[in-house]
Amino acid sequence: MVQPPRIDPGLLRRYDRPGPRYTSYPTAPQFSADFDERSLREAIRESNGDPIPRKLSIYVHVPFCLSPCFYCGCNRVITRDASRAEAYLARLYREIAMTAEMFDRDRQVVQLHFGGGTPNFLSPAQLREVVDTLGRHFHFADPADSDLSIELDPRTISPADVAELAAIGFNRASLGVQDFDPAVQAAVNREQSVEETLAIIEACRQNGLRSVNVDLIYGLPKQTPEGFARTLDTVIAARPDRLAVYGYAHLPELFKAQRQIESADLPTPDGKLALLQLAIEKLTAAGYVYIGMDHFALPDDDLALAQARGSLHRNFMGYTTHADSDLIGVGVSAISHIGATFSQNPRDLPTWQAAIDEGRLPVFRGMRMSEDDRLRADLIQHLMCQGELPISALERRYSIDFGDYFRDALARLEPMIADGLVRIEPGRILATMQGRLLLRNIAMCFDRYLDRPGAPLKFSRAI
Ligand code: SF4
Repeated sequence: MVQPPRIDPGLLRRYDRPGPRYTSYPTAPQFSADFDERSLREAIRESNGDPIPRKLSIYVHVPFCLSPCFYCGCNRVITRDASRAEAYLARLYREIAMTAEMFDRDRQVVQLHFGGGTPNFLSPAQLREVVDTLGRHFHFADPADSDLSIELDPRTISPADVAELAAIGFNRASLGVQDFDPAVQAAVNREQSVEETLAIIEACRQNGLRSVNVDLIYGLPKQTPEGFARTLDTVIAARPDRLAVYGYAHLPELFKAQRQIESADLPTPDGKLALLQLAIEKLTAAGYVYIGMDHFALPDDDLALAQARGSLHRNFMGYTTHADSDLIGVGVSAISHIGATFSQNPRDLPTWQAAIDEGRLPVFRGMRMSEDDRLRADLIQHLMCQGELPISALERRYSIDFGDYFRDALARLEPMIADGLVRIEPGRILATMQGRLLLRNIAMCFDRYLDRPGAPLKFSRAI
C-alpha cells in the first residue's frame, strides 16, 4: 500500500503561501476582454475541423442558494424566490441553443455536470427539462459511457427527489457536508444534520448512482480535532466513493460572506495542519487512495483507476476521467475550454442576461493559449494528476531541451528538492508523498504569469 503523506508542520508552514488551484493553466485572472464572442465562434469552428474532433463535456451553472454559508467563495445568488429559476432557465435555453448550433452534431457529449450555487434549487422537473433541452441540441453518448453528475445540498433535497434524479439519468452526485459539529455549523451558517445527509447518500445508492462524493472542509471556525474526527468517522462509515477535503481559504476582503466569520474562531496554522493530518490518516487507514491536492477515492473508483492508468485529468470541475474533451460552460460565470482557448461568461446575472437578450453569446473574457502556455498546461496537468513531470515525454512532444527551456523554473525548484518535496530521477521529476500536499507550490515554479508583481495575492493559500 502507498504510504500516505506525513505532515511536517514546520516545512508546510514555510510553503503555505497564496497560489492558484490550477483547475486551468493559464488561470482565470489571465483571461482578457480581447477574447470575445467572435473569438469563441472561431475556436469552435476550428475544433469542428480537427481530423478527429474531441468529445464534449458540458457544465451547467445554477447560481441560486437559499441561504449563505459564510465560508463560501462560489459565484451564487442568495434568494428564497423559487420563481427566479424560471427566468434563469428561459435564458439558459437560449444560450444552449445558440451554442449548440455551432458544434457539429456528431460530436458526442460524454460528461454533463451541474454545479453552483445549488443545482437542486431547481426542482427535479426543472432539471429534467434542462437535460431534455440539452438532449435535443446535442448528441449524448450512451448513458453507460457517460457521466451525468450533480452537486447536491442535502438540506434541501429529499430521498424521493434523488429517485427522480436517477430516473432522469444522473449517475453521480457530490454532497456538501463540511463538518457535522454543531458549533462549526452555527459559526458558518450551515445547519445540516447527520441523519438528513446519510439519508441522501443512502438514496443515491438505492437508486443505483455509480458514485457518491462528499466534500469536507478543514480550517473552519470553531473546528476541533475531536469534532472533525467524529465527522470523518461518520462519513467514512457511510463509505462514499470519493471525498474532497478542502482547506478553508479565509479571504474576507474578496468574499463578503466571510466577513461574518470571526478571525479569532479560526484554528491556528498548526491547528489547521493537525486537522489535515487527521483527515489523511483516517481516510488512508479506511482504504481511500490519496489522488492528490485535496481528493481521495476508493481504490475501485474511476478516479483511482484513471490515475493508475495515467488517464486522470483536471479541469474547472476538479478531477475527471474525461481527458480529451472540449468543455462547454453554460450559465452565469461558466467557463468553456475549447481547443487551445478559454472563455468565460459574465460573473453577474444582469450582464449575462443582457447579452442573451440581445442574442449574443455571453463571453466577457477569455484567452487563446500560446505554444508556451500549452506546454506548461500539459506539464501542470501531469503534475496535478500523476504527481510527476514526464521530462522525456515533454521534450519529445514539444521539441525542447527541458533543462534549457525551464532553467529558471528548475532554479525555483531547488529549495523544494533540498527539502525533500521533489526528487529528480532519470527522465522525470517526482513529487514525494510530502510534496504531494504542495503540488500547487511545485506548479507555481513553472507558472510564467506569477513572475508578474502582485499576481498571487488573489489566490488562496496552499494549505
Ligand atoms: S456553500 Fe454551496 S450552498 Fe452554501 S452558499 Fe456556497 S454555493 Fe450556496
